[in-house]
Amino acid sequence: MPLGKYSRISASRTALRRTSGMTNSISKPIIIVGGGHNGLVSATYLAKAGHKVKVLEAREVVGGAASTTSFAEGYRVSGVAHILYTLNPKICRDLQLESMGLDPGTSIDTIALGQDGNHLTLGRNAVNGVDLSQKDISAYTDFKKEFRSYAKALTPLIMNKPPRLKDMDRRDLSTLAQLGWKLRFGLGANSMREFLRVGGINIYDVLNEVFDDPRLKGAIAADAVLGHHMGPRTPTTVLTYLYRLWGEIHGAQSLPTGGMGEISETLAKAAIKAGVTIETGAKVKRIVVDEGKVSAVELETGELIEASIVISNADAKTTFLDLVGAEELDAMFCHRIDTSRSKGNTAKLHLALNSLPKFAGLSGSQLAQRLIIAPNMRYVEHAFNHAKYGEYSEQPVLEIVIPTIDDPELAPEGHHVMSISASFAPYSLKQGWENHRDRFANKIVDLIEGYASGFSDIIVARELLTPPDIEAQYNISGGHWHHGELTIDQSFMMRPVHGAAQYDTPISGLFLCGATAHPGGGVTGIPGHNSAKRILAMGAGK
Ligand SMILES: Cc1cc2nc3c(=O)[nH]c(=O)nc-3n(C[C@H](O)[C@H](O)[C@H](O)COP(=O)(O)OP(=O)(O)OC[C@H]3O[C@@H](n4cnc5c(N)ncnc54)[C@H](O)[C@@H]3O)c2cc1C
Repeated sequence: MPLGKYSRISASRTALRRTSGMTNSISKPIIIVGGGHNGLVSATYLAKAGHKVKVLEAREVVGGAASTTSFAEGYRVSGVAHILYTLNPKICRDLQLESMGLDPGTSIDTIALGQDGNHLTLGRNAVNGVDLSQKDISAYTDFKKEFRSYAKALTPLIMNKPPRLKDMDRRDLSTLAQLGWKLRFGLGANSMREFLRVGGINIYDVLNEVFDDPRLKGAIAADAVLGHHMGPRTPTTVLTYLYRLWGEIHGAQSLPTGGMGEISETLAKAAIKAGVTIETGAKVKRIVVDEGKVSAVELETGELIEASIVISNADAKTTFLDLVGAEELDAMFCHRIDTSRSKGNTAKLHLALNSLPKFAGLSGSQLAQRLIIAPNMRYVEHAFNHAKYGEYSEQPVLEIVIPTIDDPELAPEGHHVMSISASFAPYSLKQGWENHRDRFANKIVDLIEGYASGFSDIIVARELLTPPDIEAQYNISGGHWHHGELTIDQSFMMRPVHGAAQYDTPISGLFLCGATAHPGGGVTGIPGHNSAKRILAMGAGK
């Protein structure tokens, strides 16, 4: 049980408190602000390289948005992120996570729900379903193969710091050379040309070129926009789709046993084994800067902890505007952070059920998969239209899982948990969320009722997390899936903003390691991996 595991973390916390004076007098530790999964990955790499590392996490548990939570008595669920689109395998190998008990859980396919009970099953390589044409069936296999090859070609860019365009170092040149090689020779001339053609356009046009079936197009379009302030017709939705597909290169999506928190618990175990000290319930109030250089962090309790360097797992706005403070920053940099777009659009609805829902046309094994309500691309675009005007979608796009089918421990015997990501639910709702949260939750339930008659009768408890709730409970400013939009102007060498895009920042000794940094969010561990690599290459923290 998680509590048992945490007693070990608490034990190290007590030990830390006892020895903290001694620790500081010998050598200052690297402080990581935030024990989200990326903070834990970064911490472990640095500790394995011989650094003294301390993680300070505001919440009582590690994992941040990748944690398991209880939302009603006896019912537990992945609090925010619920589907693992593959934790990067290099990180799993480097940190020996398998030997720590890493359990990615049951692999799942995607089911695109049809309103008439005729559903499609979308696997990694094949699609099937009633009324699906042979043309669409073979086009899907070709499309997935081709688009996965585009995603794979981006690997050098994703797994390294984004190259600077000015004053490139050897690493930047090597990344660009590898990228060029993969695009030109890995893809071949025809695929490279096609990649360059589709890379900047929208997923709506691409899917219309390739497929006929509206359910198929709706489900893929939903994947391209989930977590973003984008509709299928928004430019660069091909890139957001490729980012999502990148995880698929290494394996299938899955539902981790025990919820997403188990993945973070495993990372915490690896961190502790490598010598990292983790303090939970330790909210950092201020990153202390002396003459442009980081020197310490101050906790909300007033305790001051000296640091050799500070790495922030928090989002950019929290890091720079709240923890560092505008007075320490250049006005233009501050303006860039302040105006970066980071308001979330996705809500989470957790439902406790006294039995399994009966979706028309779905078999028992299909019910255990990832269910998508996005019957066609117009539906997805219309759902997004509301968000543009500060409204929630009248008919939201839903990503639904019932983890208790394969993991019954999460609910009382015979009962189930349904976890839903619902788009679009803008952070700044025009009328304010207070009077509309129940209405939005009811809308989601009514929508599902249309596919599974009698659904509302089996709900015994529910919890809706709007983006402001995610902000408040998970310390993510804006409650955004990626800590900030993944638009082209906020990606690669401009993520989160120009001046802080290579994990180092304008403040000497301050680094970023979370989803706010390149390449963005999802439970991948990559920002944590890349930032540690960058810090080690710079020889910082010694
Ligand atoms: C609704 C929704 C659904 C999602 N679903 C999925 C999904 O199914 N699959 C998927 O892969 N991804 C999903 N994501 C995205 C994913 O959850 C995040 O991108 C990822 O978890 C970010 O990890 P991180 O470690 O970078 O940051 P976080 O998980 O945000 O961790 C940052 C940590 O820093 C801590 N912190 C912040 N400020 C301070 C402070 N001052 N002092 C101390 N600690 C502090 C926070 O408490 C937190 O623990 C979803 C996101 C949302 C919003």
